[in-house]
Amino acid sequence: MSELSDLYQEVILEHNKNPRNFREIVDADQYADGKNPLCGDALRVYVALDGDTVTDVAFKGSGCAISKASASILTDSLKGKTKAEVKALFDKVHEMVTTGKCDGGVGKLAVFAGVHKFPARVKCAILPWHAVVAAVEGRQEPVTTEMEDI
Ligand code: ZN
Repeated sequence: MSELSDLYQEVILEHNKNPRNFREIVDADQYADGKNPLCGDALRVYVALDGDTVTDVAFKGSGCAISKASASILTDSLKGKTKAEVKALFDKVHEMVTTGKCDGGVGKLAVFAGVHKFPARVKCAILPWHAVVAAVEGRQEPVTTEMEDI
């Protein structure tokens, strides 16, 4: 991680230390588990929905600094978004962490653009995103980074 810029590294470490929305949503409408066996990340993402709109999103579990910071910033970014907007943001973040290219509109998530230089870490960064998309789509089976196209 030493090659990530100091600023980005600082943001990631801060979110790892003080993750936002690190809690269970007891009456969550849906949740999904994400597992990255290569790194040992295991996160559960909870969503509360009002119709098509995410009213609350939170996560629990354990993982490396990248996966926890990604989940933390994700939960900060998705409240009030519709399911379609969550999926659209997932596509942007996926493109950004795999290629480093970003055409804006990702807010604080831009700190993960540098992750594309560390292929093993891309799975850590994208894991919570796969889990939240599974959760809003109501898929219960665990998501793992062993599945293709992650
Ligand atoms: Zn990880």
